[in-house]
Amino acid sequence: MKRVLLLLPATGYRNDDFRAAAKKLGVEIVEAADYCHRLAPSWGMPPLMALHFDRPLQAAESVRREIGGRLDAVLAVDDSGVELAALLAQRLGLPGNPVPAVRGVRDKLAFRRLLRENGFLCPQFHHLPFGEEPRRRAAELTFPVVVKARRLSGSRGVMRADDLAALIEAVQQVRAIQSRADRDHRELGLVIEDFIPGREYALEGMLDQGQLTTLALFDKPDPLDGPCFEETLYVTPSRLPRAMQDRIREEVARVCRVAGLATGPLHAEMRVNDRGVWMLEVAARSIGGLCGRVLKHSLGMSLEELILRQATGQALPVAHPDDAAGVMMIPIPRRGLYDGVEGLTEARSVPCITGVTITAEPGQGIAPPPDGGGYLGFIFARAASPADAEAALRSAHRLLRFAIRPGFPVRAS
Ligand code: ADP
Repeated sequence: MKRVLLLLPATGYRNDDFRAAAKKLGVEIVEAADYCHRLAPSWGMPPLMALHFDRPLQAAESVRREIGGRLDAVLAVDDSGVELAALLAQRLGLPGNPVPAVRGVRDKLAFRRLLRENGFLCPQFHHLPFGEEPRRRAAELTFPVVVKARRLSGSRGVMRADDLAALIEAVQQVRAIQSRADRDHRELGLVIEDFIPGREYALEGMLDQGQLTTLALFDKPDPLDGPCFEETLYVTPSRLPRAMQDRIREEVARVCRVAGLATGPLHAEMRVNDRGVWMLEVAARSIGGLCGRVLKHSLGMSLEELILRQATGQALPVAHPDDAAGVMMIPIPRRGLYDGVEGLTEARSVPCITGVTITAEPGQGIAPPPDGGGYLGFIFARAASPADAEAALRSAHRLLRFAIRPGFPVRAS
């Protein structure tokens, strides 16, 4: 029986999907979780081992001490664990991405440098070290700009600023978010980069021996123009012209090559405008939250099963996207305490809707980006066309009425 170490993030959205896939494939899962943050209430049984993912050297040592027996693969479920997974794979002599490759794409400053050095379209960008006044940078900037924490995900700590006053405010806010979310915030500082106009897309892929297979290319039909960048809709197949879709695939494959990423799941986000394809992010992980479930039909299996198959050297399926599919990450409308939802039955009975899953728990403190990085839940659709899938998601969302109480003074994690 193959044995896989699974690095689980604090929010346990996908743990059950991985467990189910492992059971189906007859793979033994050894679980380790990042206990740095509050654990999601949805954890069923506690994981075997607690590790600090943001201290990979220390964590790798604990794994060596505490896990007896052979492992066949190490997998990170989300961004927080990818560096540790790479380090463990290297130390245990297992297939994996090189540590510098993973680190280089995860750090938004290093990623911009990589793009610039390799001739990709890349906005002007600047490093703003901890404690440095943004005012001193004003002369170098062309507004609008985007201020970013270097190592957070889910649009947490990302804000647009249209002038100097907004920049000063954004830097203050992003620094506060980063100081709560990243222990290394002092060493890291922030990135300030030009705002890239255009529409946004996301590519979900799988790398196997350096070859990128596209599992899906998603349109994000809602404009994401800031000042904060909350994700909402993902719809596939893309409605972009075929030639532009091919260009996106080629650019993502080229980024993987120059970055040195060679194996496992791959999630990339990009903006497209009349100048071409602008990479926002390329990450050595799969799509976040429960969004991967949108691909189950076209893959003929769950995304988690596909990931486990790749990691354990089993045959991979070929995607057969015969219809359109979409997912809405249900945005958090305002900060507060989540109390519950009405309209679920009506939303679930909208034609083409295949599921509505609410992941927020009653009593949970919630906040939209830039403070929070989560969602109220997920709506899934399958339809004859991308436009129909999108319309169904919007209709279902309109039927949901969320109760959110004010009175959540502490910032959401
Ligand atoms: P995260 O890893 O948190 O998702 P990203 O760097 O991908 O961080 O940024 C999150 C979102 O912010 C993007 O999906 C995009 O909508 C927006 N964004 C980030 N950088 C830019 C930019 N330079 N121009 C326009 N929008 C941006």
